[in-house]
Amino acid sequence: LDLTDPATFPAMQAAREAFLTHQWHTTPLIAPQPPASPSPSQGEARRGYSDAVTLTNPATPTDTIGTVANATPTDVTTAITAATTSPWPQTPATTRANLLRATADLYEANAAEFFALLAREAGKSWADSIAELREAVDFLRYYAEQAEAQPLAAPRGPFAAISPWNFPLAIFTGQIAAALVAGNPVLAKPAPQTPLIAHRAICLMHEAGIPRDAIQLLPGAGEVGTALTSDARIAGVAFTGSLPTARRIDRAMAANLAPDAPLIAETGGLNAMIVDSTALPEQAVRDVLASAFQSAGQRCSALRILYVQEDVADRTIEMLTGAMDELTLGNPWDLANDIGPVIDEAARTKIENHVAAFTKAGKLIHRLNAPGQGTFVPPTVLRVTGIADIPEEIFGPILHVATFKADDIDAVIAAINGSGYGLTFGMHTRISSRVRAVSAQVHAGNIYINRNQIGAVVGSQPFGGEGLSGTGPKAGGPHYLPRFTKGYADLQSA
Ligand code: GLU
Repeated sequence: LDLTDPATFPAMQAAREAFLTHQWHTTPLIAPQPPASPSPSQGEARRGYSDAVTLTNPATPTDTIGTVANATPTDVTTAITAATTSPWPQTPATTRANLLRATADLYEANAAEFFALLAREAGKSWADSIAELREAVDFLRYYAEQAEAQPLAAPRGPFAAISPWNFPLAIFTGQIAAALVAGNPVLAKPAPQTPLIAHRAICLMHEAGIPRDAIQLLPGAGEVGTALTSDARIAGVAFTGSLPTARRIDRAMAANLAPDAPLIAETGGLNAMIVDSTALPEQAVRDVLASAFQSAGQRCSALRILYVQEDVADRTIEMLTGAMDELTLGNPWDLANDIGPVIDEAARTKIENHVAAFTKAGKLIHRLNAPGQGTFVPPTVLRVTGIADIPEEIFGPILHVATFKADDIDAVIAAINGSGYGLTFGMHTRISSRVRAVSAQVHAGNIYINRNQIGAVVGSQPFGGEGLSGTGPKAGGPHYLPRFTKGYADLQSA
């Protein structure tokens, strides 16, 4: 969808307006029960909405967007039983692929509603919302194509898909699509912050014809994840989220699941970019800005620490802070706003505590102002001596800046590798031998040269990290699907 096209964008904007005050509701979607009815007055017999939690818009706390009734541990057991007996694994691969394609068509047909949900439930800007729907549709069509392009081994069995709030549609859909097309029934646990968009997505999967026992929705927090990962009938887990949670899942799987049950995890990063004195300053600044602050910094791929060569540091920081001042923070419903809120109060508090500690130590370089209401965190630049000064991944619009001397670039790479993470890495330089040398040395799943380091494109930039950043295989690449099948062990030994 082209934001600049006068023929399409205003129509989409008008269509989204119909959902400005819409209320969505979700309960667990467990086979063979019918899906949750759209309004509380027609609530499901099995569970009413009396225990439902109200969700609000992170940009506008007075904007209520709906309710979620979370799954109980008993719901999880019931759903796994239905998955275990599902005939889905016997469905021909081409049928499964076509059902993914039908889902993609329905996603596109319901774009306006998804854009409303992405803005009101997840605080996504227009540009981010459009990119996210695109990515979700790409995952569906790409994995459909991959399932037909390569002979896949036998399915593993019921898969748990545990997804994050920062890509509540794209990553949620990508995990499910991969597991499903490989022949596994899926139990999907969306992030507790974004169950409504997840519910809408699953309803469209059902509408497209994917059976209810093949894809079930289990909204909830940690207890749902715990119930899933302690049931020995779960054959594998796809997870995207924080490193501590990945470790918890890994331990639970080791204790409870079959030894060969895979954990396909994508976690966080302390992503760095190096800008040397040969870089084109305007381009570097534009890409730093996008990498650090787009999506309010709430991407695993986002830039957390910029290493700028001493000789050009003052000028680069001056240009950067000047460009930052042009960014607008505010309600993402409004096209004029570049940066929306962070997801919730807990996230804001954690980020603000980090900024406060650095500010107290005299390390604040620049900060914008936040709107009065909503969980906004203004883009902020903090001074550090190196990556070791950053205690942990700060999941928000906070950029740390360090300087380096031309001769010390190897030490910089060693320090970056020393963090143990390895998700994205960026470099701005016009020395091609340096590009080759640094790319060979740095441990990162995705390396970006002379561009921003976010927004990996399905099918052309498979995405995933190494070290503490994830297990692989990379999402949106040709090696992803085999991991969801029993063929992966053969591949490894081959
Ligand atoms: N794939 C996304 C990107 O390239 C990041 C995914 C994530 O944040 O988990 O920006």
